[in-house]
Amino acid sequence: MGFLDQLSGKLSEAGRSIKQAGTSAAQQTKDFTDRTKLNAQIHQYEKDIEAQYTALGRALYKQKPEEAKTFAPEIVAKIEEASASIKKAQDEILAISNKKICPVCGRQNDASAKFCVGCGTALEVDPAMKQEEEKKEEEKASDKTPESSAASSDSSSSSSAPEHVTGEVVDDKTTKEA
Ligand SMILES: [Zn+2]
Repeated sequence: MGFLDQLSGKLSEAGRSIKQAGTSAAQQTKDFTDRTKLNAQIHQYEKDIEAQYTALGRALYKQKPEEAKTFAPEIVAKIEEASASIKKAQDEILAISNKKICPVCGRQNDASAKFCVGCGTALEVDPAMKQEEEKKEEEKASDKTPESSAASSDSSSSSSAPEHVTGEVVDDKTTKEA
């Protein structure tokens, strides 16, 4: 029915303009607040999703590392590279502070310690430290020959810094920490 259709069209138009006129400043403020609130909610949900994706990737990498490698080799390579860099930096910090980590309990010990202060595990003595100690004893013993001991101290101190080869394989400990 043409007339009724026209009428209903006019009515809804009228309704729209009334509604627009009724959009008071207070209503606009409320709309703005609501939009802001909703946008904040969306942002929070997006952040939550990102965190879950991260957790999903970590779970996959931990539980099915081979599948993770097959699925996303570049990402796994970046993780392992960064983990190796972390390990290297940690080792350098230990070397600088003259400490070593117990492989059993993870406790820090003096680099010269033969046993862990935490769990008593026999600790590997750094070859460089060993040389240093032997050198000192030698120096004490051979005070009368300063030339030869000076020569040996030169050669051993230049090789005392532990050499780190960038590993493509991440050891278990680093993987667990990551
Ligand atoms: Zn220990």
